[in-house]
Amino acid sequence: MNALASISLQRPASLDEAARLLAQDGACALGGGTDLLPNLRRGLGEPGLLVDLGGIPDFGACAIDADGALRIGAGMTLAAIAADARIRAGWPALATAAGLVAGPTHRLSATLGGNLCQDTRCVFYNQSDWWRSGNGYCLKYRGDTCHVVVKNDRCYATYHGDVAPALMVLGAEAEIAGPDGGGRCIPLADLFVEDGARRLTLAAGELLVAVHLPPAAGWRADYAKARVRDAVDFPLAGVAVALRREGERLTGLRVAITGTNSAPLQVSVDDFVGQPWSAELAAALGEAVRKQSNVLQTTVAAVKYRRRVLVRLTQHLAATLWAGVPAAA
Ligand code: FAD
Ligand code: SF4
Repeated sequence: MNALASISLQRPASLDEAARLLAQDGACALGGGTDLLPNLRRGLGEPGLLVDLGGIPDFGACAIDADGALRIGAGMTLAAIAADARIRAGWPALATAAGLVAGPTHRLSATLGGNLCQDTRCVFYNQSDWWRSGNGYCLKYRGDTCHVVVKNDRCYATYHGDVAPALMVLGAEAEIAGPDGGGRCIPLADLFVEDGARRLTLAAGELLVAVHLPPAAGWRADYAKARVRDAVDFPLAGVAVALRREGERLTGLRVAITGTNSAPLQVSVDDFVGQPWSAELAAALGEAVRKQSNVLQTTVAAVKYRRRVLVRLTQHLAATLWAGVPAAA
């Protein structure tokens, strides 16, 4: 890795000022920097201005309202999310996912906003400038050819964030602020685009301010990932499952995956609702996940392995959650 090039840094003291600065050409938001700074040190991107969001009052605040809904500020660190007693009690899948990101020292500075908005990854992209130049660069940055998918229609780099799928199965919404005081709330899935280069739907000057979660009433959820080194690694495949059970019937099922597509993906599983859990249903669920995922050779780990582990993790999580709800509940 190289030393960082000289970059201007501003630390705005309000949301409005942050949005105004981010609207400038070449400006880039900075959370904990654990994704962005290593990338910049590899020569991936040349922002003219870094906007450090850490000075915005209450940017990392977390609160539960009178209806039991949770609002987590985008500046809350993953270590704080994983340790928060309210989150562990009401939305444990979120605490689990946050606690599985990278290593302990990353999580101390890594923020929720940075985790959700992190760059996509590819074995042809997360390399030094020297390495990439020897390969003629690629479509995502500085080049015109994709080395993974020869069609060259878009970049297929993979989204490897752990927290997004957990939030998606819990019904999260993203609160976004923009220039001129504008703001909006969208389903979290709508923050992402299935395009490894474009990645996010945020317009210039917009930033993620918070995530809202409804009370998890009746839902049981969990998150699991496969990785090369358990102490510190991105998911080769990750899955979150949320499930509701009444007696011997599934009354709700949500599945979201990561490490497979260019965006975290909520898998379509509505057809399984109303059925009892069985070996046949587990097989059909595995097949639905396999079909809707798009695992490509964007990591050094084999595609076949990542597909298989994704299916097995999904089936294992769903079976465990089903068994964890008493049949009489
Ligand atoms: P930053 O690096 O500050 O920002 C990341 C991106 O998000 C940047 O593009 C930035 O402009 C944008 N951004 C930040 N905040 C906002 C906001 N509020 N609104 C809009 N855009 C914003 N990640 C995982 O998910 N799982 C892993 O297992 C994992 N393992 C890692 C292992 C290593 C060795 C390293 C170096 C990184 C790993 N990461 C992993 C990536 C990274 O550490 C985490 O995703 C982390 O949560 C990023 O948060 P951050 O605050 O540091 O983001
Ligand atoms: Fe580059 Fe293709 Fe990899 Fe995207 S998927 S980073 S365009 S090689």
